[in-house]
Amino acid sequence: MSSQVRFDPYAELRHALVEHLRQRGIRDERVLAAMERLPRELFVHPAFIHRAYEDVALPLGYNQTISQPYTVAFMTSLLELEPGQKVLEIGTGSGYQAALLALMGGRVYTVERQWELYQRARQLFARLGLAIQTRFGDGSLGWQEHAPYEAIIVTAAAPHIPKPLREQLALGGRLVIPVGGPQAQVLVRLRRLSEHEYDYEEFGEFRFVPLIGKEGWSETPDIRPTSSSS
Ligand code: SAM
Repeated sequence: MSSQVRFDPYAELRHALVEHLRQRGIRDERVLAAMERLPRELFVHPAFIHRAYEDVALPLGYNQTISQPYTVAFMTSLLELEPGQKVLEIGTGSGYQAALLALMGGRVYTVERQWELYQRARQLFARLGLAIQTRFGDGSLGWQEHAPYEAIIVTAAAPHIPKPLREQLALGGRLVIPVGGPQAQVLVRLRRLSEHEYDYEEFGEFRFVPLIGKEGWSETPDIRPTSSSS
């Protein structure tokens, strides 16, 4: 064996997780192949590294979480991302979702509003050599400068579908977003059919931390929507 080949203590766990996701119904082989390559142990909080390959959401600190692998795989499948397409993620968090999209060949833009998580994810992308464009700010407004996007994924719960995100979709583009109250949301996929027409689909209940911002929830403890654009 060449000295270039390094022992990867997590390879078996990663493979087992991918098989588990396959058994739970994830069929998109490009998503599964990218998950088989991506070291989730680098993205979780160090205190939870021993649980990096469990199919659960884990705390990242700052009241935020790295999403459950099943949820990541399911939402990513819904995006129908093709290599070379532009994809916007709202809620960088650990950076795992953005890194997955980059491994699938997406041109990735990601926005985070929590400074420490933003910095940590940027450092990790640099360390892994991933060319991901990052922005610190309120992603509920999207990232207008680089629009339109073939895919937009929101990894925090929104009270409604933010109008700027709909408008930043390319024709044929897909927006995947959990929408609903703070306790539970429905996963929605919008597909832009023309300038003003969208196809709307729902994919069951999920639970996310809130999207906080102008087109999301306010930061007050009782959590109220800060605007109500339709
Ligand atoms: N995608 C992440 C990952 O792979 O680890 C998990 C995201 S975590 C469930 C939700 C993230 O959305 C948190 O990091 C939170 O700070 C961020 N967030 C909430 N509201 C936001 C907003 N308006 N703009 C950008 N990020 C936001």
